[in-house]
Amino acid sequence: MFDTAIAGSLPKPGWLAEPGKLWPAWQASGDALAQAKLDATLLWIKQQEDAGLDVIGDGEQARQHFVHGFLEQVAGIDFAHKVEMGIRNNRYKAMVPQVVGPLTLKGRVHAAEARLLRAHTRRKTKFTLPGPMTIVDTVADRFYGNRVTMAFAFAELLNQEARALADDGIDIVQFDEPAFNVYPDEAADWGVRALEHAAQGLRCKTAVHICYGYGISANIEWKKTLGPQWRQYERIFPALAASSIDQVSLECIHSQVPPELMALLTDTDVMVGVIDVASEVVETPEEVADTIGRALQHVPRHRLIACTNCGMAPMARPIAEAKLQALALGAALARQRHGA
Ligand code: ZN
Repeated sequence: MFDTAIAGSLPKPGWLAEPGKLWPAWQASGDALAQAKLDATLLWIKQQEDAGLDVIGDGEQARQHFVHGFLEQVAGIDFAHKVEMGIRNNRYKAMVPQVVGPLTLKGRVHAAEARLLRAHTRRKTKFTLPGPMTIVDTVADRFYGNRVTMAFAFAELLNQEARALADDGIDIVQFDEPAFNVYPDEAADWGVRALEHAAQGLRCKTAVHICYGYGISANIEWKKTLGPQWRQYERIFPALAASSIDQVSLECIHSQVPPELMALLTDTDVMVGVIDVASEVVETPEEVADTIGRALQHVPRHRLIACTNCGMAPMARPIAEAKLQALALGAALARQRHGA
């Protein structure tokens, strides 16, 4: 009861990439970089285990950014000529690659990290991939001419990699769809269908992470415009409850999400965000247990997983480490309080 897991990313060590950045430059190249990525992954497997987490991830140490890490292995994309595009409904501008031809995978994307992860922990493993709608919102289209068509083309490639990750021994493949909260109507209309296409036929569990973004200033400013109640999940959760997806990850602590919206997830496991990634203040175990307690009013105990609100990539390492410990200690306290 109350398994603990991270949403996905963890800070990269300074010897791997520039610290404190969401799109950091690598500190090495070639074989040295490939080895450094695996060394950092191993470091975080140990840190997550020592903190006491139940589900272990790769911390996304091998990708510069959670979307473009996948795209680098996709043919049909021109990375040499990036263009500036307003992404997440123009919340911020980014230099994005362009889709210029039919999309195909050049080969495996994450085999090295996934196999390393599986080889070095006996605990449950989770691996993250970007979701189709979020990818579509992070590239410029010069070929398909239609967001839905392009999303299903990406979903097909994601499905290939996800099946391979399951074959590598990964227990949970999670798709990250922050774009769902930006376009909740489109998410309910076709986003969840594209997600199911990416997740179809997997031998492992499937999950989706839907958040309000990393704790960067553009997102903090955006959140201020969303009003006293953030009800985007209300549009999306019924479609997810009716879908084949097994687990849904959402923001909870310090958010304006009405907790009762969690009750809309009638059939899925619910990964409740009990760690704030937009604050450097480390939660106490009591705070974490209190947040779990509030969620229990809307989520049955056997379906509740304690998680972070979002990835921790831009955070300082010591703070991220302390937050991992708070997560595990808080879940342990909640188990005591609620009689596990
Ligand atoms: Zn997130």
